Amino acid sequence: MYCDLHTHSTASDGTDAPGDLPRLAKQAGLSAIALTDHDTTAGIAEFLDAAKHARIKAVPGIELSADPAILHTDSDPEQAPRLGTLHILGYFIQPDAPHLAEVQARLHEAREQRNPQMIARLNELGMDIHYDEVIEIADGHIVGRPHIGQVMMQKGYVKSIHEAFSRYLGGQGEAYVRKDRLSAEEAIDAIHEADGLAVLAHPTQLGLDSASKLEHAVARLKALGLDGIETRHSDHSPRDTERFATLAGKLALKVTGGSDYHGSRKTLALGSQKIPLAVYEELLQAHRQRISA
Ligand SMILES: [Zn+2]
Ligand SMILES: [Zn+2]
Repeated sequence: MYCDLHTHSTASDGTDAPGDLPRLAKQAGLSAIALTDHDTTAGIAEFLDAAKHARIKAVPGIELSADPAILHTDSDPEQAPRLGTLHILGYFIQPDAPHLAEVQARLHEAREQRNPQMIARLNELGMDIHYDEVIEIADGHIVGRPHIGQVMMQKGYVKSIHEAFSRYLGGQGEAYVRKDRLSAEEAIDAIHEADGLAVLAHPTQLGLDSASKLEHAVARLKALGLDGIETRHSDHSPRDTERFATLAGKLALKVTGGSDYHGSRKTLALGSQKIPLAVYEELLQAHRQRISA
């Protein structure tokens, strides 16, 4: 019996509706599935309802993006855009917990404001670019810097997307606006206040190049209350999984795993990580201990 504890739906950047995932998981032979959309719990109600009908165990979850800067003790904040990715998974969360709702609203607002702010800077630099044009080129997708770059290219302000990033939109660019990010502590606290367990997602993406830096980083997260590490993930080699499991043992952290399924957007299949159901059961146990404490 297997589970998949890392999946995305159309509530974030997946291609399957949250209400379809339980049935698809069942078809893939799974006994439990977690929904972990990026920075939103919007799909959870539909997901849990569908899971009841499909008779599959379901975990309400989230995947919060946090600022990786604290993990790179030797780095200069100006270099932050070059740092890796810090994602914190929340499991067994109350989807409408007030603090978690606040965090989602803040991240949503930051995303909404950042693109217009960058466009305003390009306008100040003399470029005639409007947000409407960028929205049009994004064609229904989440608007991002590549779309701004495309408009710049179409209008002849740059010769390539690469140039748009290196001169204007990249971390060192003239029109760059930093993302308002959650700190790791805020992400972990928001998950805990929603009765959830906080788990470090895909540690390979932290971009830490040595075992000692990784251990230092995970120990810092543990000091902030981290409950577990996602040891098995589609990006991890068997060797990665082994070293993360060793680290989890050393720091007394739970282990989790999942495919990071995104539907047809990526080629990873639901359930492809073959995570034993016992991983789900141990997590559930830890959650119960947490709420009864
Ligand atoms: Zn992630
Ligand atoms: Zn993910």
